Amino acid sequence: MHAEQKGINEECGIFGVWDHPRAAELTYYGLHSMQHRGQDGAGLVVNSGRRLRAHKGLGLVNDVFQDASFQELTGSAAIGHVRNATEGSHTYENVQPLLFQSQTESMALAHNGNLINADSLRTELEHEGSILQTSSDMEVLAHLMKKSSMETNETSIADALNQTTGAYGILMMTDDTLYAALDPNGIRPLSIGRLGDAYVVASESCAFDQIGAVFERDVLPGELVAINDDGVQSSRFAIRGQRKMCSMEYVYLSRPDSDVNTVNVHASRKQMGKELAKESPANADIVVGVPDSSISAAIGFAEASGLPYEMGIIKNRYVGRTFIQPTQDLREQGVKMKLAPVRGMVAGKRVVMVDDSIVRGTTSKRIVDMLKHAGASEVHVRIASPPIQHPCWYGIDMSTYRELIAANYTLEAIGELIGANSLGFLSEPGLEKAIVKDKSLHQGICTACMTGDYPVAKGAERVLTHKRS
Ligand code: AMP
Ligand code: SF4
Repeated sequence: MHAEQKGINEECGIFGVWDHPRAAELTYYGLHSMQHRGQDGAGLVVNSGRRLRAHKGLGLVNDVFQDASFQELTGSAAIGHVRNATEGSHTYENVQPLLFQSQTESMALAHNGNLINADSLRTELEHEGSILQTSSDMEVLAHLMKKSSMETNETSIADALNQTTGAYGILMMTDDTLYAALDPNGIRPLSIGRLGDAYVVASESCAFDQIGAVFERDVLPGELVAINDDGVQSSRFAIRGQRKMCSMEYVYLSRPDSDVNTVNVHASRKQMGKELAKESPANADIVVGVPDSSISAAIGFAEASGLPYEMGIIKNRYVGRTFIQPTQDLREQGVKMKLAPVRGMVAGKRVVMVDDSIVRGTTSKRIVDMLKHAGASEVHVRIASPPIQHPCWYGIDMSTYRELIAANYTLEAIGELIGANSLGFLSEPGLEKAIVKDKSLHQGICTACMTGDYPVAKGAERVLTHKRS
């Protein structure tokens, strides 16, 4: 697929703090609570008033900060980032926040999401003589800002953002201001909290709970927030589009204890399970969930169907996510290491196995095999989201059409491939019903990877070939 269509995805978490004596340490804790959003790199830039200083590296938050001295990372403001690298972008240079030093100022930048037109903007900049050092979309943005003004301010940020299309939450920091911006459709999550007099900004509200901060409000679509010693100023850099929060935040990405756009993630997953049980009931003895992301949906399924929820699968919590392993072989090995059946619970039983989603089909197939080896007499697979048939252009690494099992096979064929006795997916209306509680807040959700209905730059999608059966 052409890079313009897929882009360098940045499935990430960002965190910022303004006006707290232990800004770097709080950022570390905030990033730690969002480790699930990216395990390939982490970093922070701390602001000591006159100087911005970075500490970052490849790997998990704990690895990156194990040698860090928070006594040395002094300053009352900071921004940080955890990142999930996609193929070809797993380098130190791409670890954020990126720090830009010019004759006039220092500026740090971190983002979560994807600028769809970053490649053409990059080409234009290079033709004009700019030299870019990373493959990060944020370097492109920084160059656009410098073209607008030598100083980072609301005008230069708005000028630059208005040349881009995409889905993003962005944090920027100069020596005197912390900026937070959200894409015009609010596809990615970004919230503001308070910790005493300090302001905090995070991709997920679980980061606020981690540091004892209180949720204040979400950053609005197309809004640019500037936080400095004069307080908080809000401006609009773009006409606010319809809010289209990423539905995969609820299905899989966010932590169950987070509230995304004021809806609790666990509650929405539980409701997805309930809707699924109504739409796709199963003749079975027990319901099991695939840890961790599917437990909430499995509980909902059990509750609505009247079947007992049992712990039929357990997870070795010391193994990383399967998805980030680079090859199919390693991914399969990863699933084997990560999950184990509870034999005594599943042997001789007709099992409903609830998972949150199917992407390539690797996980479901292995789990069905595993449950059958452990003696399950039947395994009925129920997926608490619609089939993922299209890649994501908005920052979530959802692979290409070729790799997406539901883009290439019919429902019946997928059921056979994964070895299930029966297979059911949640419908798109069912998903929407589980997430959207208040139309005035949600307007709608993004379901582009399931429906192909892309809320931004729809014209660029590829035409699907016929499905194999
Ligand atoms: P697969 O084995 O490729 O079908 O992957 C499906 C599993 O990956 C599901 O059980 C989800 O829990 C998880 N998953 C779904 N979306 C993502 C994503 N964007 N990144 C990482 N894991 C994901
Ligand atoms: Fe989320 Fe899918 Fe939309 Fe991407 S395409 S933003 S993963 S709902």
